[in-house]
Amino acid sequence: MNFQKIKEQDKKNILNTYNRFDVCIESGKGAVCKDVNGKKYIDFTSGIGVNSLGFCNPEWVKAVSEQAGKLAHISNLYYTIPDNELAKTLCEQTGYSAVFFGNSGAEANEGAIKTARKYSFDKYGAGRDQIITLVNSFHGRTVTTLAATGQDVFHQYFGPFTEGFRYAEANSMESVEKATDKTVCAVMLEFIQGEGGVIPLDEKFVKDLFAFCRERDILVIADEVQTGVGRTGKFLASEHYGVHPDITTLAKGLGGGLPIGAFLVEERLKPVMGYSSHGSTFGGNPIVCAGANVVLRTVCNEKFLREVAAKGEKLKACLLVCEDVVSVTGKGLMLGIQLKKKTAAEVAKACLEKGLLVLTAKDKVRLLPPLTITDDEIKQGLQILWDVLS
Ligand SMILES: *Cc1c(COP(=O)(O)O)cnc(C)c1O
Repeated sequence: MNFQKIKEQDKKNILNTYNRFDVCIESGKGAVCKDVNGKKYIDFTSGIGVNSLGFCNPEWVKAVSEQAGKLAHISNLYYTIPDNELAKTLCEQTGYSAVFFGNSGAEANEGAIKTARKYSFDKYGAGRDQIITLVNSFHGRTVTTLAATGQDVFHQYFGPFTEGFRYAEANSMESVEKATDKTVCAVMLEFIQGEGGVIPLDEKFVKDLFAFCRERDILVIADEVQTGVGRTGKFLASEHYGVHPDITTLAKGLGGGLPIGAFLVEERLKPVMGYSSHGSTFGGNPIVCAGANVVLRTVCNEKFLREVAAKGEKLKACLLVCEDVVSVTGKGLMLGIQLKKKTAAEVAKACLEKGLLVLTAKDKVRLLPPLTITDDEIKQGLQILWDVLS
C-alpha cells in the first residue's frame, strides 16, 4: 500500500484528532527509523518520550517476545512474575513503599488524585478535597485530568469537569498561599512542565512549596510522566531538587514502547488504598512489565544516567551556537529550544524533510531523543538541525 492510500484510509476511518506529520513510519532501529518509502530519519522524539531504549532494543524485544510466548495476560486476580520484579525495582530505586500499575499517564494521575483525596477523607473527613495545580501544566486527557491541567484551552466542550481543582502560578509562593485554605488536600506539579514548553520550576519555589505543604499536611503529587525514568539525567526529576514528593506518577518512558502508567506512594499512604479502592484490567500486564524490567535494568545505573546528562549538555551547547536559538531549557534529554525568527512548527516540518524527527511544545522545538542515542546519531541529527536553523 502506498503512502497516499494509507493517508486516505487513515483520514477516513480514524477520528481526526491528530495533526499528523506527512509521513508513515514503518520500522526502526536504535535512534533511526524508516518510512514506507525507505527514507531514514534520526529520531529526536522517542515517540513522545516513550521509546527510552530506542527502537527494537534487542534485550527489550527478547523479553517482550518471550513473555508473549509464555503468558500475555491473566488479570490482577492472580499473582504474576514480571510486575513483581518491576515493583521491587521501582521501590528500591525511588525509596517509595508501594506502586500501583495502570496503563497511561492520565490514569496514573487519576490514581494519585484518588489517593490524595482518600488520605484526606480518612484522616479529616469529607470536604478537604481541593487540589492545587499549576498554571500551564499538563496532566492528561480524561475529564478529571483535563480539569487538573492548568490551561484554559483544555477546559472547553467536555464539561461538566471534575470539581475540586484550583490553579496557582508556577514559581509564586504568593499565588500558592492565596489558593490555599482548609479544604486543600494536595498540590500537583511537574518539575519541568513538558507540554507547557519545557519550563523547569525554580529551586527555591520547590523547596518553599514542600516545606509549606509539609507544615499543613498537604500532599505533594509529582507528575513525572514525562520527566521520570531517567529522562532528565536522574531517575526522577525530583532528585535534582533534593525533594521527595508523597506521590510520584510515571508513564511514558517506563515501558520502553508499550503502554504503562504507575503511581508510587510513601509508606504512610500505603494503607489508604486498600482492597477494592482501585483497580485496572490491564494494569501490570506481564508483557508490558517484562519490557519495563529491561528499561529499568538499563536506566537504574549511575553511569547510564550520567551519560544521559552529558548527552543533554552536549546537545544544549551545540544548539546555543546556532544563530536562530535564543535559549535552551530543560535537563538531560528533555530540551526545549526557543527560537528568534522561525516558528517551531516550521522547523519541525523542515527537519522532517531533511530526515530528522523533532517535537514542538508551545512555541518551542522540543527534543526527547531515546536515552540510548549514540554520539554519532546525535551528530547526524544536530547537523540537520543546524542546517534548518541557519
Ligand atoms: C503525556 C503526559 C501525561 C498524559 O499521559 P497519557 O499517557 O497520554 O495519558 C500526563 N502528564 C504529563 C506530564 C505528560 O507529559
